[in-house]
Amino acid sequence: MIEYESLALLNAPFFDDYTKEFNKVLKSGWYILGQSVKQFEAEFASYNQANHCIGLASGLDAITLSIGAFDFEKGSEIIVPSNTYIATILSVMQNNMKPVLVEPSIDTYNIDPDKIEAAITSKTKAIVVVHLYGKACDMDPIIALCKKYNLKLIEGCAQSHGATYKGKHTGTFGEFGAFSFYPTKNLGALGDAGAVVCNDIALDKIIRRLRNYGSDIKYYNEVVGYNSRLDELQAAFLSVKLKRLDEINAHKRKLASIYLNNLNADFVKPVVDKDYFDVYHIFNIRHEKRDDLKEYLLKNGIKTEIHYPVSPSKQKALQGKLDNYNFPISEKIHATTLSLPISFFHTESDVNKVIEVMNKF
Ligand SMILES: *Cc1c(COP(=O)(O)O)cnc(C)c1O
Repeated sequence: MIEYESLALLNAPFFDDYTKEFNKVLKSGWYILGQSVKQFEAEFASYNQANHCIGLASGLDAITLSIGAFDFEKGSEIIVPSNTYIATILSVMQNNMKPVLVEPSIDTYNIDPDKIEAAITSKTKAIVVVHLYGKACDMDPIIALCKKYNLKLIEGCAQSHGATYKGKHTGTFGEFGAFSFYPTKNLGALGDAGAVVCNDIALDKIIRRLRNYGSDIKYYNEVVGYNSRLDELQAAFLSVKLKRLDEINAHKRKLASIYLNNLNADFVKPVVDKDYFDVYHIFNIRHEKRDDLKEYLLKNGIKTEIHYPVSPSKQKALQGKLDNYNFPISEKIHATTLSLPISFFHTESDVNKVIEVMNKF
């Protein structure tokens, strides 16, 4: 059986170092906002060539606090992709603002810059883009729109650790880059964890305050904050894995190139463009008979996943809460996409096996 993902196998190369770090933190007697968080924040800011990084409790919090940092008035509109994980949309709603969904490009699966302008109104305050599957969004036209309409830009980087656009890291184009370190991500922890990166010291201070009960000095609370602190233990584990993130990404890119070169033309493959350094958090293909293909692969010992089976606007949680429910491009993607095995532990021969079986479908 070729697994789609196995967190035990994925983390096996790090067990020894994780154990050392666990013992270090355990014996230090300091478990919240200590040396490990400080060190990881400095390392991750530097990795992304950003000025600041603030460790948080999750990827959802990273987007939620980024939006909250600006104190937009209640009911403000925030533009988000219609083709995304629901977290992007929930982060807007948890700030009592209105998510305005914009369709993706059918080629890149990311928000279509040509469709954003029509969604901007006098109430629009920000755009949250998501670099889905590990491919950056087309940033130049998005940045131009933010300038033209004076909008803040927040980047959802839960799937794009190490991805670049024209040589610049995702997460560093707008005011905030919001990262998740959920265990399956390219840079994954051993539990929930997240962070934002930013370049502005004033924004850095606001996020530090929000993550810690709105407090700069213990027991003095300046604003209505959250408890969204990155754990010392998770930070220590993340520092271990960050040292090998480029190796993880290189491995996934190698496997992706084998899929790209050898899967036959029945499958719609991800697009490749010289301006984009893709890190393939997910390697997806599209096929009209996606469900049959998934079943056929499983019968042949290959596990796959669907990212995602239900488009956010079709989720029960969002019924009655959006202005528009007509997102045919997103729905087409959700109905036809299939994610193939591409983890750090998969070998080239695993991928060749998947290709061999798929090309006989
Ligand atoms: C994983 C993910 C999130 C959520 O991150 P958590 O750490 O689980 O809160 C948000 N958006 C996208 C696109 C993701 O892939």
